[in-house]
Amino acid sequence: MPVTDVDGRPLRNLRLSVTDRCNLRCQYCMPEEDYVWLPRHDLLHFEEISRLVDVFIGLGVDKLRLTGGEPLLRRDLPALVRMLADKPGLRDLALTTNGILLGDLAPELRAAGLHRLTVSIDTLRPERFKQLTRRDELPRTLAGIEAGIAAGFTGLKLDMVVMRGSNDDEIVPLLDHARALGAELRFIEYMDVGGATHWSMERVVPRAEILERLARHYGPIEELPEEGSAPADRFRLPDGTVFGIIASTTEPFCHACDRSRLTADGQWYLCLYAPRGTDLRGPLRAGASDEQLADLIVPTWRQRRDRGAEQRLHLRQRAPLFAAEELKKDPHLEMHTRGG
Ligand code: SAM
Repeated sequence: MPVTDVDGRPLRNLRLSVTDRCNLRCQYCMPEEDYVWLPRHDLLHFEEISRLVDVFIGLGVDKLRLTGGEPLLRRDLPALVRMLADKPGLRDLALTTNGILLGDLAPELRAAGLHRLTVSIDTLRPERFKQLTRRDELPRTLAGIEAGIAAGFTGLKLDMVVMRGSNDDEIVPLLDHARALGAELRFIEYMDVGGATHWSMERVVPRAEILERLARHYGPIEELPEEGSAPADRFRLPDGTVFGIIASTTEPFCHACDRSRLTADGQWYLCLYAPRGTDLRGPLRAGASDEQLADLIVPTWRQRRDRGAEQRLHLRQRAPLFAAEELKKDPHLEMHTRGG
């Protein structure tokens, strides 16, 4: 029997942040000058991660996504992939990355058994990339995507956060680029998550507007049937090109959300917007058995009522979720800690 929450949503999908560090400073995620990082000795070792994953798999988790921060900054990541890839019961092992280090790591990740890759890319213009991310890394990002394809990863996804006045004039060029690579582009609405301290509703380009603009360029767009709990609504252009839109800000999908998040230091969060998580590192390091860990996880999930993005939708005045000062006091509130 799957473990379900109050709304019948199963515990199925775990996003595993392996580091809170990042080699970019994207405006929508890390716009501040400095950050408070997780203490190194708190970071879970690979054996500890693997142990927790076993417990989660035993409770019904069958999809795992490695994220961060930038997950490829975690030393020896392919070794962790190797430990996770063959676990019985795991249907899907994916990685979300900015692609900068993929040029070096793609073949090793593939050989280690990683199933799928998602690469974040918000612009194809070098100057704009520099401005959006505060790093001059577009060439390595593009080369990383190519390296992923060359290493044999199929079903590649590219994620673009669309921000009005920043990169929304590139929705067509990025879709063309993804199509040329045989990748599926997903447009992500700019979200008011922790860390997005410069967020405002004016800068969100809603799903409806993205579709309208694309239809003006490409012609009629067909909506594809829903795929269970997947966050992206999927569409098809007249030439058959498929793309997605993740409309977490204007049309959230909380009703179907089966995701939870484990931070690199072993805090478990039931929602991207949740103010608090459950400490799994403490009990793990204190010698808890698998059963004792499961006894922490199961009741917590059963009581889950979180519908963070929907609640934000009903606010009359919508502003950034947390101020920079609050984030400094608790870095767990940050998107780059929680794992996007
Ligand atoms: N470093 C990796 C990457 O760049 O993909 C993984 C971590 S990143 C936090 C994961 C995803 O979160 C990225 O696709 C990023 O675009 C998204 N993200 C971060 N802040 C966001 C925001 N304010 N709104 C929407 N998406 C956001």
